[in-house]
Amino acid sequence: MNHKISLGLALLPLVPATQTRGQEKQDSEHPNIIFIMSDDHAQQAMSIYGHPIGKIAPTPNIDRIGLEGAVFRNNYCCNSISGPSRAAILTGKHSHKNGFMKNWALGFDGSQQTLPKLLQQNGYETAVIGKWHLISKPTGFDHWMILNDQGDYCNPQFITESDTTVHKGYVTDLITKYCEEWMDNGRDKSKPFFLMMHHKAIHRNWVPAERHYHLYENVSFPLPDNYYDAYEGRYAAQLQKMNIYRDMYEGHDLKMVAGIDSDSLLFDPWPHAFMGTMTTEEQRRFLDAYRDRNNEFYSKPRSFKEVAEWKYQRYLQDYMGCVASVDESVGEILDYLKRTGLDKNTIVVYTTDQGFYLGEHGWFDKRFMYEESFGMPMVMRWPGHIKPGTQVTGLTQNIDFAPSFLDMCGISIPKDMQGVSFKELVEKGKTPADWRKSLYYHYYEFPGFHSVRAHYGVKMERYKLMHFYVDDKWELYDLKSDPEEMHNIYGKKGTEKITDRLKAELARLQKQYDVPENLCR
Ligand code: CA
Repeated sequence: MNHKISLGLALLPLVPATQTRGQEKQDSEHPNIIFIMSDDHAQQAMSIYGHPIGKIAPTPNIDRIGLEGAVFRNNYCCNSISGPSRAAILTGKHSHKNGFMKNWALGFDGSQQTLPKLLQQNGYETAVIGKWHLISKPTGFDHWMILNDQGDYCNPQFITESDTTVHKGYVTDLITKYCEEWMDNGRDKSKPFFLMMHHKAIHRNWVPAERHYHLYENVSFPLPDNYYDAYEGRYAAQLQKMNIYRDMYEGHDLKMVAGIDSDSLLFDPWPHAFMGTMTTEEQRRFLDAYRDRNNEFYSKPRSFKEVAEWKYQRYLQDYMGCVASVDESVGEILDYLKRTGLDKNTIVVYTTDQGFYLGEHGWFDKRFMYEESFGMPMVMRWPGHIKPGTQVTGLTQNIDFAPSFLDMCGISIPKDMQGVSFKELVEKGKTPADWRKSLYYHYYEFPGFHSVRAHYGVKMERYKLMHFYVDDKWELYDLKSDPEEMHNIYGKKGTEKITDRLKAELARLQKQYDVPENLCR
């Protein structure tokens, strides 16, 4: 069957008249996009960014994307938490505009304009496989297969239009397999495709694949120098509950047991989502994998500090074990694309829904506008368009993803999208003079998990201003002299001018993005 092109139609098919269904097309005007997004992947844990952790536990496959394409050096989210980041990516809009401001919200309004819908309307085949976490059913996808809620590491449930079923295996491997199967047999090969491949890893509670149970067990990771931060001068930081040595669940997160040779995990509030999904035999192999290490922990008395640092090591060992499965998955997809010839005309993106703390300030989790969780590491490969080794240094944000992908696919960007296309930044490898100089951030989920106060803020190149508005507490950081954000200089002598400038910029951004006043108090 020949596809007809009728000029003048809004929904113009992209398929040439000679193209037949089932035949792979390589139309450079309309590249395929594989958007690989993991969950909670810290920049510190992606070796291309050069952090000491990445040197000990490298991610060679993720790095390949960046080495063959672009590394984003200043990419940020607009609201550092799962659902809201995903909603911002789908819509190109800040949380207050797309309506999904908190994880504990009503479902995402799937009737609104989204990136996959716009691509679909312009002749793309679209799919999402893996974590969704937006409560309502996906819309705008020709194919979807999503994890139930957060998803489980072992034998997870997948939801499709027709059912919810347990799938045997490790979640990262299953998602990889289903993405390849869809690219192989599930899609209309006469169309370009957009695939959202969303991993559950590296989300809490960090259960590595069985082949990685012992990968980092003898590795000692470098303790951040602010691990014992006392949060002086930082009101909201004093009130959070996301400290590794005070708040992390010893059974659920750290796999600690009741004593020598015990099979009884310490505190695990969600047993159904962890050991509960493993078979009895899998549970036994899992507990055995930790047995010697757990026995060693109880072999001698330990001080508070020794326990705090032991917990950090256990956290990092498991976290990086989960990163390993994601890196292998990326390698598998890159090999698949090469094997099938799709690599030449496919944009491959690897990113994560937001950054994460790996012990900085003593923390795990995200939410704060501090750099580790505000930042979103990202690499992108697009042969013929992005030169290998490109560094994107302009300020970019997750609301830019949708307009950028549309731009790269030759589709016009709707006026109501709040993000802007960074196509020129990646293609030319430099930031245009009129590119944005500031970013707006707004975290809403309070009360909520980890007790992080709601706040908004503005980041400019050197300075960051944050307002924990419910209690009217301000923070100001000079990121050049204080990159770890340990010294709140708000109200200090000599900062009056820069404070005024940042407050004016904040007000300008809130006006530009049309943030309702009732959400700012
Ligand atoms: Ca997340």
